[in-house]
Amino acid sequence: MIDPTYHAPVAQLVRVTDSSELDLEVQIVYDKTVYNLYVKYMTKSEVRMLNGYRLIYRPDYPGAMINSNWQGYVYEHIYVAEGFLGRPLRENEVVHHLDLDRSNNRSENLLVLEKPQHGKLHAFG
Ligand SMILES: [Zn+2]
Repeated sequence: MIDPTYHAPVAQLVRVTDSSELDLEVQIVYDKTVYNLYVKYMTKSEVRMLNGYRLIYRPDYPGAMINSNWQGYVYEHIYVAEGFLGRPLRENEVVHHLDLDRSNNRSENLLVLEKPQHGKLHAFG
């Protein structure tokens, strides 16, 4: 169980607006600055699963995999998080699923944390 009083977010999502089934307009606060961003989803048929994670086909995305089996795929939670951050994740950052469901990549379920913070979060288990 996650301690609800624990929070050390790098970025906190504050609002999600569904503009269609697959597209999201998100508003986040990062370093006390409010950002409005638009996250474009691919169609559901372009989603594949790996170890409980969803991957989406985004061959033009800078973080897309180059491995032959997964060429052009990106972890959806990373894609969504980087979309609302407006920048790539840093080396020391990870994306946490608040409900612990790796496949739930709704922006409001994701929290970007530094790795030590993330470790502490799971240590509450
Ligand atoms: Zn986690």
